[in-house]
Amino acid sequence: KSWPESEGISYNKLKNILLDTPDAKQVREWSKYYTAGPHLAGKNLSQAEWTRDRWQEFGIKQSEVVSYDVFINYPIDHRLALLKDGKVKFEATLEEDVLEDDPTTGMEERVPVFHGYSANGNVTAQYVYCNYGTYEDFEDLKKAKVELKDKIAVVKYGRIFRGLKIKRAEDFGMVGVVIYTDPYDDGPMTEENGYEPYPAGPARQPSSVQRGSVSYLSIAPGDPTTIGYPSKPGVPRQSTDGKIPRIPSLPLSYAEAIPILKALNGHGPKASSFSSSWQTGGLGYKGVKYNIGPSPPSLTLNLVNEQEYVTTPIWNTIGIINGSISDEVIVIGNHRDAWIAGGAGDPNSGSAALNEVIRSFGVALEKGWKPLRTIVFASWDGEEYGLIGSTEWVEEFLPWLSHATVAYINMDVGAKGKVFRTSAAPLLNKAIYEATSAVPSPNQTIKGQTVRDTWNGHISTMGSGSDFTAFQDFAGIASIDIGFDSAENDPVYHYHSNYDSFYWMDNYGDPGFEYHLAVAKIIALLTAQLCETPIVNFNATDYAIGLANYLDSVKTLASKSSLDADSQTSIFASLETSIASFKETSSAFDAKAQTLASSLASLHGKHDRRAAAELYPQARSINTAYKLLERQFLYDEGLDSRSWFKHVVFAPGLWTGYAGATFPGLVEAFEAGDKEMVMKWLDIIEMRVDGAISLLEG
Ligand code: GLU
Ligand code: CA
Ligand code: ZN
Ligand code: ZN
Repeated sequence: KSWPESEGISYNKLKNILLDTPDAKQVREWSKYYTAGPHLAGKNLSQAEWTRDRWQEFGIKQSEVVSYDVFINYPIDHRLALLKDGKVKFEATLEEDVLEDDPTTGMEERVPVFHGYSANGNVTAQYVYCNYGTYEDFEDLKKAKVELKDKIAVVKYGRIFRGLKIKRAEDFGMVGVVIYTDPYDDGPMTEENGYEPYPAGPARQPSSVQRGSVSYLSIAPGDPTTIGYPSKPGVPRQSTDGKIPRIPSLPLSYAEAIPILKALNGHGPKASSFSSSWQTGGLGYKGVKYNIGPSPPSLTLNLVNEQEYVTTPIWNTIGIINGSISDEVIVIGNHRDAWIAGGAGDPNSGSAALNEVIRSFGVALEKGWKPLRTIVFASWDGEEYGLIGSTEWVEEFLPWLSHATVAYINMDVGAKGKVFRTSAAPLLNKAIYEATSAVPSPNQTIKGQTVRDTWNGHISTMGSGSDFTAFQDFAGIASIDIGFDSAENDPVYHYHSNYDSFYWMDNYGDPGFEYHLAVAKIIALLTAQLCETPIVNFNATDYAIGLANYLDSVKTLASKSSLDADSQTSIFASLETSIASFKETSSAFDAKAQTLASSLASLHGKHDRRAAAELYPQARSINTAYKLLERQFLYDEGLDSRSWFKHVVFAPGLWTGYAGATFPGLVEAFEAGDKEMVMKWLDIIEMRVDGAISLLEG
């Protein structure tokens, strides 16, 4: 066995292979392949098999396609028209323009604009402009007594996950939702500011439409008919009530939103006079005044949405490199399905980069590398509808994953701009600082700068919106999500639109494919670090520091809550003590791990195998504790209002979806003003923290 020194090739040599192998021409080829045809969930078998075949060629012989039968929708028909006294005043095409320069935009099989999991319906109603459709936006509308019942909501994309906008509209008795992209949210690179729209320039193509899922992702991801267990053929199916919308919705471009918004001019209050979060949008220069409405009874929208719902197979491609240690596993995943034919950013910048990661590990294997831990690669299907492929897989292999998995590394949009971005479980903070420090930045203001040097070092907490969710929140596996995001002055990214195409990527997003390469190298080095260093490169102290910070923000929230003042300070004391002692235990544990790592490294240097072998049992027990630490924060019964979510520290915000909430059970208890629930969650969390302490104390 190769532990603690790599047999065949050294750790340094492995790192060099991982840094030297990824190739710009090759990654561009992968991008070209993946962006050359439609790959909606359940319609991409050839790409799943192609991926498997490539991975096998790279030397990952154990690669296979795994399928699930899932409940999803495909678009049949739609209509959006503005009616004045029953007569059509404007009929939206609901089409994105075909551009001569960009071949994907003219493909015959291009996917109509629609929402995943949207409800069927044909409604004609007055309409109201509801800003971003956030929880607070609707609170503001309620306060101002704007009539919402039986109306259609017109909302902007942005701020929160789109499905939650619909959920909130539904709660107010609204009958349909139109979600459009407002150029205000594109930053400075707009047509209004004199930039040419794509394809001539970097500004948004006015006809671009953002497709996307409208599932209630903060309630549960995965197939909504099999929450908690895998969608294997023949399993019992649950009702979708409370998991997907009951009212129809459609996405819209800003070009086609203009006539609808303009028709509201002069009706109802102005958005700008509402509250600070209601600033006007970016279409003022087109004559839109951003009145809220409602539109008068003579002015209505007709919204028609017709979807076919089916239970149909989807396909994950899974590849395994067996390590000497079979029960210490690192999983690396990226989704393969896309809403559109291209998807050069989402997800195929990730898919192309992942292929280079795997090819690089293949080169190392060929040179005799014998991995210490086991690596699993995944190309997920069905992410776009609700993280389906990854969630069903985690649900299927939960016992093994709980027992064996050290970490999950996710890459979704690998590159769409120049800014490094990551969210991570605190256990992985140290590892990502190290990996980014070893990769040259494609964007250097000073020669020799690494990605770490050009990154501000901010690590977000885990929310949701990509395939790490089931790993982190359901299985309690320390997870990280990585990619290069758009900077303020990067060309506008056409998210979930036909213009997220190879042509856009090649000319605007990442010409030269350098950011694709950088993200591939970061993923590869992070993986190598986690699977090759004799002591797993985790840091428990960072977790303890995180917990203390999260508790501070709960206290701030508590001080504003309706609960009586004296309960607000004293009730935290006991949990605070636990967190403080978790911190002490953690730093002692990390120090012990560090010492052991140094001893092993020095024995390794002296080729003293026998002395090293004597330290194995100790190393093994440290690694097991690191591996299981994240699991300690699971609470089997889950959160009160969404029991699939088992993690007591991290969950997507109930009304944000993408952005993470920390101590979600406790926060929601305060928001509900429910003292009993607050006490219950303080207890649960303290028990979990104490469990983590016992684990580390052994
Ligand atoms: N990443 C996709 C999106 O944001 C899917 C998110 C989800 O449904 O969880 O639309
Ligand atoms: Ca399921
Ligand atoms: Zn994606
Ligand atoms: Zn997406």
